Amino acid sequence: AALSVSQALFSQGFGTRRDCDGLVLNGLVTVAGRVIDDPDEPVETDGLVLTVEGRDWPWHEKALILLHKPAGYECSQKPKHWPSVMTLLPPPLRWRSGGDLQPVGRLDQDTTGLLLLTDDGALIHRLTHPKKHVDKVYEVSCARPVTEEQLAKLRAGVVLNDDPVPVRSEECEITGELTLRMMLTEGKYHQVKRMIAAVGNHVEALHRSRFGRLTIPDGLAPGQWCWVDPAAI
Ligand code: URA
Repeated sequence: AALSVSQALFSQGFGTRRDCDGLVLNGLVTVAGRVIDDPDEPVETDGLVLTVEGRDWPWHEKALILLHKPAGYECSQKPKHWPSVMTLLPPPLRWRSGGDLQPVGRLDQDTTGLLLLTDDGALIHRLTHPKKHVDKVYEVSCARPVTEEQLAKLRAGVVLNDDPVPVRSEECEITGELTLRMMLTEGKYHQVKRMIAAVGNHVEALHRSRFGRLTIPDGLAPGQWCWVDPAAI
């Protein structure tokens, strides 16, 4: 599609229409190596890279972001006790015109690891709907060594206090003296912590290492983010 350069900037979250016109009029926007001086100049959005104040911004119709979540951040937009994960993202990702970026499911404040965020409502629905069964893998550190009996219960299924239907982790393995890897397909509130508590142990630390087929790219440190292609999930 063709948009004016100012509309393209606006859709990508570079501020109000007036702010976007201002960026162009001040000579701060480059496309394919050429400074654009007319906010109304049409640009083709397919494959577009907007260079704004020297930084490249690849155009995305919808945003899908992988964040390596550090501990000490809440997934809520209106956090209560800790800063929101949104504060880890650059301003354009928070101001996109197509709608708010939202976490795809939530991780607890003290949970680290792979968190997806998107402004694509259909994608959120597809990835969080209970019937869709997207695999999530968690690395769990427990307070006490995990016994074979606890492992067997996690695999067979445990009943949590808000639902009589047992939840299980068929693929659940011991990875160290105090550590466990669990694969879940649903995403109930505090599910890992409650399952571990239900078998008589306690979660000391929790890290999500996989979501669908996605893992955290090598070198993506806690607090850093990258774009993802929805087809890669
Ligand atoms: N299970 C939990 O208990 N907490 C999380 O953050 C994710 C899964």
